[in-house]
Amino acid sequence: MKMTARSIVAAAAIAVLLVACSSNREQAAQVPKDTPGQSQPAPPSDSAAPPPAPPVLPEPAKEDKAKDEKPQPEKEPEPQPVKEASKEPVKTAPAQTATGSVYGGSSKSDPGNRKELSWYYMKKPKGQVPDFPHETKTFSKDMKALWVGTGKKVYLTIDTGGPLGDTATLVKSLKDNDAKANFFIAGYNVKKDPDFVRTLVADGHLVANHTMTHTDMNLQTDEQIRKEIQDYEKLYKEVTGKDIQPYFRFPYGKYNTHILKLVSDMGYSSVFWSTAMRDWEPRKNGAEDPYNDIMNNLHDGNIILMHQGSPENIEALDRIIKAVKKAGYEFALLTDIEPPKR
Ligand SMILES: [Zn+2]
Repeated sequence: MKMTARSIVAAAAIAVLLVACSSNREQAAQVPKDTPGQSQPAPPSDSAAPPPAPPVLPEPAKEDKAKDEKPQPEKEPEPQPVKEASKEPVKTAPAQTATGSVYGGSSKSDPGNRKELSWYYMKKPKGQVPDFPHETKTFSKDMKALWVGTGKKVYLTIDTGGPLGDTATLVKSLKDNDAKANFFIAGYNVKKDPDFVRTLVADGHLVANHTMTHTDMNLQTDEQIRKEIQDYEKLYKEVTGKDIQPYFRFPYGKYNTHILKLVSDMGYSSVFWSTAMRDWEPRKNGAEDPYNDIMNNLHDGNIILMHQGSPENIEALDRIIKAVKKAGYEFALLTDIEPPKR
């Protein structure tokens, strides 16, 4: 099939359409006893444009945590080489505030709508900030969201909707390297291992709201969404004795502008990302893969999404932190992009 310029751009976009906590691993762990009857969210990205490149068949699982799962129609194409991605037209960057955070640029108030959206970004050559979805330009000021910062800072966000994995190595790697990280831990995992959460907070990491049930928020009523967030706040307070910082991540990166505003009206900033990886499935080259995925897309203000349930991520973490620091970046908390305002 002849690839048109448009289809190359689409391929590049979809290649990096990586969805928060979309993991088989996560879903395996997530079919939780505490959410009986919850419908399983659809697999990521299928709601986006149909992939122009042949589908990637799932790798034979070397550690198949998804065995019990329904087959996942993962249909994302092979990631495009960086040079392909760079062919896309240069787009105007979203509006940046004086503090360097990237929020919705439109100053007029907008009630939003329920058109389902999935977060993605368009990768650019190493060192360059990716391009972001067109819809970000429609976010109004009262849809607080951030997806990249500025300066020589990296925001490592660790998403824990699935297995908690090797928490000891994770905590140690961060501590040994004096690196701070931002955790989005689903409510059922907070309940499962409250000591882990207390350790993170004591070590100075940020633990923020990732809902109680880790379901697609598009499928919930406004009332249910508020309850998801408020119940999480209560749980966090019970476990840590502190008030939660108002940062939120949509499970699977699935959202719509109506909910974005709802969450924002509750005082939260929704946190998306500017680097993600196919880490919901076993990695072909083991710990080399997360290392390369991150180092090859490192850019100023990089918000990195990493899933805690990926053993390759945990194995690679020490090396990644050392390399990112060597490249001149500091690991920072999201509060550094924009201090919480409530
Ligand atoms: Zn998640």
